[in-house]
Amino acid sequence: MRIENDIKLDFKDVLFRPKRSTLVSRKQIDLTREFTFRNSKQTYSNVPVMAANMDGVGTFAMAEELAKSGIFTCLVKNYSANEVIDWIESTGKDLKDSWAFSIGTAPDDLIKFKSIYNEVGQEHMKFVCIDVANGYTETFVEFVRDFRSNYPDIVIIAGNVATREMTEELIINGADIVKVGIGPGSVCTTRVKTGVGYPQLSAIIECGEAAHELGGHIIADGGCTSPGDVAKAFGANADFVMLGGMLAGHDEGGGEVVDNKYVQFYGMSSRAANEKHFGGLREYRAAEGREVLVPYRGVVSLTVQDILGGIRSTCTYVGAARLKDLSKCTTFIRVTQQFNSVFVE
Ligand code: 5GP
Repeated sequence: MRIENDIKLDFKDVLFRPKRSTLVSRKQIDLTREFTFRNSKQTYSNVPVMAANMDGVGTFAMAEELAKSGIFTCLVKNYSANEVIDWIESTGKDLKDSWAFSIGTAPDDLIKFKSIYNEVGQEHMKFVCIDVANGYTETFVEFVRDFRSNYPDIVIIAGNVATREMTEELIINGADIVKVGIGPGSVCTTRVKTGVGYPQLSAIIECGEAAHELGGHIIADGGCTSPGDVAKAFGANADFVMLGGMLAGHDEGGGEVVDNKYVQFYGMSSRAANEKHFGGLREYRAAEGREVLVPYRGVVSLTVQDILGGIRSTCTYVGAARLKDLSKCTTFIRVTQQFNSVFVE
């Protein structure tokens, strides 16, 4: 047994130190990032915020709406191949830089990917999100490696991991973008059920550094509860930030609205998700997700404005004219929790 004594931080443990700035208006802030991905050599030029591939978030309607603000959506895994093909042919064609098809590592997932890809072609299918709860297994790395050798031009998002060495391992084996986060999610119970996890701000800083040294990219996935947290993830040098809970409860997610006040939201490893997608929780598994009611918030565009407005404002406080400059302009100060007050509307 070993103990690491270094302090590891979460979003709540830090604040941005304000800095002298020549910026006069939030309008001046450029939130677009341009990336060339290490392995696929594909490019990206958009706002690097992503909707998670979760029920109630990663829907076609969400992808269409978020694309209007330059935001990316990882579609839920449970759309059928025909549903995705129909959607691409009707709408998705014009949005090719704004969505990823999500898969696990089951043989059926690969069959589904192939049938869509063969139908619509590389021209209309640019990203895949290979998403498993535990990205540390050898079979996962082999899956990513095989996928890369079969599809050299697809942008591969792969995860989740939370440490440097596994970020490097995935990038070396073909991933372009590594999804970082073990246990921080709003409806995730991994830390309670297993005792496994890594404080998210430190995971972003460390995995980001490891990825960037290799020319790779990372997504900070999970744990953001406010626009300030999203800005902190970018300040910590995340290339993309993925949001589940912050985008839940909106019309575009398609969830049932209860009493005109709440929408059901659940983790994708929760009992509810297992019942919906797999006909129940297998007897050897524990649910690692919660089911909650989130406030019903109507259309997502107002929430998007709030999030992007918050990031712009952070940039003005620290003197970053572009989102690209935010991490260079960031000095985090450590705070005790009582100073990092949570604003509840
Ligand atoms: P949030 O933005 O809600 O804090 O976090 C979203 C992320 O939580 C997702 O992108 C995914 O990585 C993670 N997640 C979603 N459902 C579950 C679950 O049931 N269990 C666990 N451990 N993580 C989940």
